This record gives sequence, structure tokens and C-alpha cells, in this order.
Amino acid sequence: MSETRTDISELGEFGIIDQLTKGVELKNSTSILGVGDDAAVIDAGNEEYLLVSTDALVEGIHFNLMYMPLKHLGYKAVAVNVSDICAMNGKAEQITVAIAVSNRFSLEALEELYAGIKLACTEYQVDLVGGDTTSSTSGLMITITAIGRVKKEEIVYRSGAKEFDLLVVSGDLGGAYMGLQLLEREKDVFKSNPAIQPDLDGHDYIMQRQLKPEARVDVVNYLKELGVQPTSMIDVSDGLASEILHLCKTSNVGCHVYDEKIPIDSKTSMAAIDFNLDPSTCALNGGEDYELLFTIKQSDFEVVQSNPNFSIIGHITSAEDGTYLVDKNGSAVTLKAQGWRHF
Ligand code: ADP
Ligand code: MG
Repeated sequence: MSETRTDISELGEFGIIDQLTKGVELKNSTSILGVGDDAAVIDAGNEEYLLVSTDALVEGIHFNLMYMPLKHLGYKAVAVNVSDICAMNGKAEQITVAIAVSNRFSLEALEELYAGIKLACTEYQVDLVGGDTTSSTSGLMITITAIGRVKKEEIVYRSGAKEFDLLVVSGDLGGAYMGLQLLEREKDVFKSNPAIQPDLDGHDYIMQRQLKPEARVDVVNYLKELGVQPTSMIDVSDGLASEILHLCKTSNVGCHVYDEKIPIDSKTSMAAIDFNLDPSTCALNGGEDYELLFTIKQSDFEVVQSNPNFSIIGHITSAEDGTYLVDKNGSAVTLKAQGWRHF
């Protein structure tokens, strides 16, 4: 180890990953793709690839048990992993679950967590096939690995976007972030005065977006039914802006994204305005929506445009043209990602 000490907060999550994984070489011809996409791609020796993805959720960082029921947490931990398999245009089939848990948790509490995990397994038709259980000095950490499959000719990477492709996102954005804002606010109110009951009425939609996100398995199926093979794809875990920049960087292209085309549910907009936040900013930077962001060829425009699950939000340009957000007045500003900063 060298004498220098670099603070990890200087690097951020993606900087740390780059730094730690640089120089990693794939030794096996079956390792088709390693670090850098939503899931690793492994040649299973037939017409399909295996897909493998891991995500960890840490108490105090990704969830707060004051407002996140354990059952929801279990469900969400599975959903976010299935989502990464969807982002490769694949189907998740198995998961393993590793937990580190302090003695603050009872067996009954952990059974609640597993009730959520099992519910998600039923919902997404995946099998729980293993895992690991260890103790932790404080808090709960849950790490899930999802294993999936995709036909070789149907795999979609982050790297396939081409100039003139259209940029598309499923569903609507910003809801999960507004749900979090609401839950945080009510938690603070409760902490300052436990006699005041949380005021969550009328906010079911954004709460559900935060507490019970769904992997868009249905979107992967719609695309197949429509005969649309995306040229690139990623799931929206860190915020739309961050994910667009990932797609563009990995594909070595630029983009124009139109602010007014970004899909935002009216309940999300109303909550944002209530919090004095700009709805577009919440949609661009909020994260945790677990929608799918993808690019399509121009020839697929009509079939995608006429589908209510999808919004065409921009188009791909050359890398030299840069990555831009075009605001409601038509002026272009450089697209920036605030995203989540854990470090
Ligand atoms: P996602 O948001 O889709 O889950 P991440 O941003 O977490 O993806 O990770 C980006 C890529 O870096 C993935 O290929 C992931 O497997 C890889 N990765 C993340 N952390 C590590 C690590 N500590 N060691 C090796 N690879 C990592
Ligand atoms: Mg992902």
C-alpha cells in the first residue's frame, strides 16, 4: 500500500468503481462482458447468455427503517436486481440473498424481510437459490445477486446507441424521489413531536414509487411483442440525467434531451411544487424510479410513439456535439448529473 491517502468522497461512486476495477482483465473466453453495464454477461455455451448482477442495500444509506417496512425492503431489494437484468433485455430466473444483521433484529423482523423477498420472487417468477447470513455490528445490509438469461441476438448493452437514434423512457419519473421527500419530512415532524401523526393522505402514488418500486419486466415483454430491439438500454436507478450520461459515454455519442418531453405524473408534479422543487429537476436527478431508458432506431418511431408506456424524450447526436438538455424555451444547456452521492 502506498503512503498517499485519497479520501473516497473525492471520487464518488463511479470514480471508485473505475479506480478499483482498472486493469482487471477477463481471462476466460466465457466472460463476455465484465464491469461497466447493468449486469455481467457470461457465455453459457448455447443460444443464450447468462446475466449476473449484484446490488446491496444498506441501512441508513439506502433505507431508513423508521419509514421503510421490512417487507417492502425485501421486495425492493429483489426488484432493483431484477431491474438490472431487464436493462440487458433479459429475464431474471434466480437470486441469492446475503444478509448482515445486528442482534437488534428479531427472527420475526427478519421473517418480515423474507416475506417481501418471497412475494417479489412470486411476482417476478424468480427462484431464491442461496445466499449467506452473517452478523453485523450495527444495522442491516442486504445484498442480492440476480441471475438471468437472454437470447444472444436479443442482448442489449449500454454501448449500442448510434447517432440519430431516439431516446426513450418507460413510465414516469421523479415519483420515487418525491415519495422519499415526503417520508423524510413526516419523519422529521414525528421526531420533533411524536404526538403528530404522519400526513400521507393523497400521496399513495409517490409513496408506492418509493416503497414498492417495480422492475419493468412488462416493458421488456412489450418491446418483444412490438418487435422493437433497443440499440442500448440502462435502468434508471440513479436519476435520468446520470443514466443518459452513462449511455452516451459508454456508446460514445452525444444527445439532445427535451425537458418538456420528460414524463412526470401529475401527482409527482403537485408534490414537487408543494416542496418548492422544480418537477423536472426531480425527474432528472431524483433516482430510484427503476424505469427503463433505451434508444431505438428511427424506423421504430411510430410503433414506440403510439405506445402509452413510452415517452420519446430526445435523440442521439455525435459525441462531438455534446450532451444537452433543451429547456422549455428552446435553449440548450449542458446535461449535468447530480444523482445520488453516497460518499
Ligand atoms: P447499477 O446502477 O446498474 O447497479 P453500478 O453503477 O452499481 O450499476 O455499477 C456499475 C458497474 O460496476 C457494474 O458493472 C458493476 O458490476 C460494477 N461494480 C460496481 N461496484 C464494483 C466493485 N466494488 N467491484 C467490481 N465491480 C463493481
Ligand atoms: Mg442498473
